[in-house]
Amino acid sequence: MTEAVESRHFIQQIIDADIEAGKWGAPGDRSVVTTRFPPEPNGYLHLGHTKAICLSCGLAREYGGRFFLRFDDTNPTKEEQEFVDSIKHDLEWLGATWEGDAKFASDYFDQMYAWAIELIEKGLAYVDDQSVDEIRTGRGNLKDGGKESPFRNRSVEENLDLFARMKAGEFENGSRVLRAKIDMNSPNMNLRDPLIYRIVNAPHHRTGDTWHIYPMYDWAHGLEDSIEGITHSLCTLEFEDHRPLYDWFIDAINQGRPDDAKIHHPQQIEFSRLFLSYTNMSKRFMRQLVEENHVNGWDDPRMITVAGFRRRGYTPESFWKLAEDVGITKFNAMVDFSRLENMVREDLNERAPRAMVVLDPIKLIVTNWGEHGDEDRVEVMEAANHPKDGSFGSRAINFGKELWIEREDFMIDPPKKFFRLGVGREVRLRCGYWVKCHDYKSDADGNIAEVHCTYDPQTKGGNNPPADAEGKVRKVKGTIHWVNVNDAVDAEVRLFDRLYKAERPGKKTGDHLDDLNPDSLKIITNAKIEPGLMSKGPDEPTWNDGIRRFQFERAGYFCVDSDSTPQKMVFNRTASLRDSWAKQQ
Ligand code: ATP
Ligand code: MG
Repeated sequence: MTEAVESRHFIQQIIDADIEAGKWGAPGDRSVVTTRFPPEPNGYLHLGHTKAICLSCGLAREYGGRFFLRFDDTNPTKEEQEFVDSIKHDLEWLGATWEGDAKFASDYFDQMYAWAIELIEKGLAYVDDQSVDEIRTGRGNLKDGGKESPFRNRSVEENLDLFARMKAGEFENGSRVLRAKIDMNSPNMNLRDPLIYRIVNAPHHRTGDTWHIYPMYDWAHGLEDSIEGITHSLCTLEFEDHRPLYDWFIDAINQGRPDDAKIHHPQQIEFSRLFLSYTNMSKRFMRQLVEENHVNGWDDPRMITVAGFRRRGYTPESFWKLAEDVGITKFNAMVDFSRLENMVREDLNERAPRAMVVLDPIKLIVTNWGEHGDEDRVEVMEAANHPKDGSFGSRAINFGKELWIEREDFMIDPPKKFFRLGVGREVRLRCGYWVKCHDYKSDADGNIAEVHCTYDPQTKGGNNPPADAEGKVRKVKGTIHWVNVNDAVDAEVRLFDRLYKAERPGKKTGDHLDDLNPDSLKIITNAKIEPGLMSKGPDEPTWNDGIRRFQFERAGYFCVDSDSTPQKMVFNRTASLRDSWAKQQ
């Protein structure tokens, strides 16, 4: 056997063992696996979330189980419908299909409230009148242990009465909380009588004015998982210390119940977060970038939101590949930005048709074109749309006397290894002809205005000329791209660089804004594009998301931006062809 055995990450190993043991159903039944993605609708999804989505959705798919989308909408003051909509859209775009309708924690508020009453009745929860600060101080520290609240031993009747009145809106925000009665000396701070409910007199985006108390994350999360029948509740490592509490709450509800009335007890499993260099993966910082206009909205292509990546031309496939590539472990590790860029490059290299676009144009004049008075003559060239895949077809492009080429493809005094144009040098114009430079013209400011060349009629299509009398074939080293002046259309091209210039933004000064890269966006307004790019061609692939993507030869991968109009196209650079940052470092 030469094939390596497929390695299973630790979560797959846990699930495999559960299935074999019949922990969740009949032994061997893989379809019992039930996972969820539980975002709080308080911002747009970012790259880190895609790791969690690909993991939970991917596992449900692998085992033939179920995957749910559930909004953890337990904080009425920060949540908005806009975020619910954007999160759904992002999951759909990623192809992370959830089962049934999206679920909302707020749909379970009645049930959670009833369970809280059960805890009070069992003497496992109490209403505390201390202030938030007093509660915090009372928790103590790891060395000294905590102090019990003076309200800890209230009667069940008094607790029930106060809790009902909290719910009815009789009290001010922050004046009372419901706490679990666990252990004020637990070595795990999360178990020192954690909060279950707090008073928030604010309307909720779905339940309106019904509630004046809202459940805390630790209470709500496990109960939501339980109600939905989640088997494996996957979350990031910072929740490892919360797992005992996750389990305590469910056990507390089940305490004293007969076996057939016990609620479902999911298993929480933690995995490492995704960190990406040169980024700040937190909704809080991203919100600041948007609100203070350091970027142009949540979907600015420089943002590491899913919406930003989508607008930049990234494909859903590249996120699934990245998630697989970084793997699932218990160790937080920094992933380099270039790793993600390589994923999208690999994907687009195979799937994006080619085109020729000149970003910084200068004119090349073919001086021996039309020597016999037919200067306007054009020849139609055939250009393959993909170098390796014939199914992409080919397109016809015109070659004439005047062509746009890149400014950087000509030098007045080129070094020996510059295999492009300079006086006396010859290059191949891709799918055109070979041209040899004999002169150039500058404008009043000393900028190159025109490059004068002759073409070799024996090199049509860019092919080698025939051998000479001695059997020698002339060679050229360089191939450059071009666009026929008479056909070219002006377009806007947006070139993005990293939003931050530091690997860990804010590490030095404490403020991530100090590390913003002032050159993260460069706009070119007069790029010269092939006319065929103005609308979708017959051979052009159709992408699932309707976004048109290309490789502009020698320049990188680009997509059509939604700001485009029928008159003026706008392109975003998704990625350069190679990693230019790796070289710099
Ligand atoms: P942020 O800290 O950016 O505000 P969050 O964790 O508060 O993010 P939630 O909406 O609560 O955002 O997260 C939904 C899910 O996504 C959680 O299960 C969380 O563990 C997971 N998640 C968030 N960030 C990352 C990350 N960087 N890597 C992997 N998973 C993540
Ligand atoms: Mg959160």
